[in-house]
Amino acid sequence: MIQVQGLTKYYGDLCAVDHISLDIQRGEILGLLGPNGAGKTTVLRMLTGYLRPTEGTIRVKDYAIDKNPLEIKRLIGYLPESAPLYRDMLVYDYLGYVADIREIDKNRKFTKIRKLAELCGLNEVMHQPIGELSKGYNQRVGLAHAMMNDPEILILDEPTSGLDPNQIAEIREIIRRIGKEKTIIISTHILSEAEAACNRVVIINRGTIVADGSTETLGQSTSQGHLITVALQNADLEAVERELYSIQGIEDISALDEQGDSLEVRITCRYPEDLRGEIYKRIKQTNWVLMEFHQETRSLETIFRSLTKEA
Ligand code: ATP
Repeated sequence: MIQVQGLTKYYGDLCAVDHISLDIQRGEILGLLGPNGAGKTTVLRMLTGYLRPTEGTIRVKDYAIDKNPLEIKRLIGYLPESAPLYRDMLVYDYLGYVADIREIDKNRKFTKIRKLAELCGLNEVMHQPIGELSKGYNQRVGLAHAMMNDPEILILDEPTSGLDPNQIAEIREIIRRIGKEKTIIISTHILSEAEAACNRVVIINRGTIVADGSTETLGQSTSQGHLITVALQNADLEAVERELYSIQGIEDISALDEQGDSLEVRITCRYPEDLRGEIYKRIKQTNWVLMEFHQETRSLETIFRSLTKEA
C-alpha cells in the first residue's frame, strides 16, 4: 500500500530523517514510536505530501509523491499534532464546511456528517462551538475532518497527546473501530498506546529505524537476544553455569532466586539464536528437576528504552 525507500530529510545541516525504508501493507495499524525529536512528525509530513523529502521515494498504491501528490493526498486523511480547527464555528457547521471543501456531493453531505458524528462520538456536541470543547472532543472533530473523504489511509500524529486517561481510551476505541477498514499510521511516544492499538511497531531514533515488528515479535527477540527463565530443584548455580555456559551462544546466566536446592536463573542468549531446545536437552541429562521454563517477552517499554536511551 505504501512503499518508502531511502527517505531522508535535512533541515539545513540537521539530518532529521536518515534513509528510512518501510513497506506498509493494507490494513496494518502501524505505530511510529520514538523519543522527542526522533523525526516522527517529519516522516508523517513527508508521507502526506506536506513536506518535500531531501532524498528518497514514497509510493502510495500506484502513485509517486513527486509526480502525483494530489492523488496521494486524496487517499490519505491526516490528523496533525494540533489540528487547525476554527474555534468559533459550531461542530456541525465546521464538518459541513470540510465536506464542501472536500467536494462531498450535496445529497450525501448530511448522511456523511451524521455517520462521522456517530463514529467519532460527536453527537452530543454537534451544536457547540469548537473553542468550547475539551481537548478530547477537539481530537474527535479532527478525526472526523481527516475521515471526511473516506480515505484509505489515516495518518494520526500523536492523536492522544495531552488527553486524560478516559479520553485516551475513547480515542483508542475509535481508532480500533476505524482500523477494521483502513490502513493507519499513528505516531506516538505513549508506549501503551502502541501496544494497545497497533499490530506493528516501528521505533525510530535520531532519524533512523532501530526496530520494526509486531509488538509480540519485538518483545521476544530484539538485538539483545532472547531471555529464558528456568526454575530448577536439586541444582546449584555453579553447576548450572558449568553445564550451560558450554552451549555456544549463551551470553549470561544470572540467579534470580536461590533457596536451599531451588534455583531460578535468567539466561541471555546471543541474538538471534533460539537455544531453548539445547538448554532443555542439557537439563534433561542432569539430575536437576525442571520446575519452570519460559522465554520472557520484553515489554515494549524495555525495548524502547534500550534502543533510544542515549537520546
Ligand atoms: P516530537 O515527538 O517532539 O514531536 P518528532 O519525533 O516528531 O518529535 P520532528 O518534529 O520530526 O521529531 O523533529 C526531528 C528533528 O528535526 C528535531 O531535531 C527538530 O528540532 C527538527 N525540526 C523539525 N522541524 C524543523 C524545522 N521546520 N526546521 C528545522 N528543524 C526542524
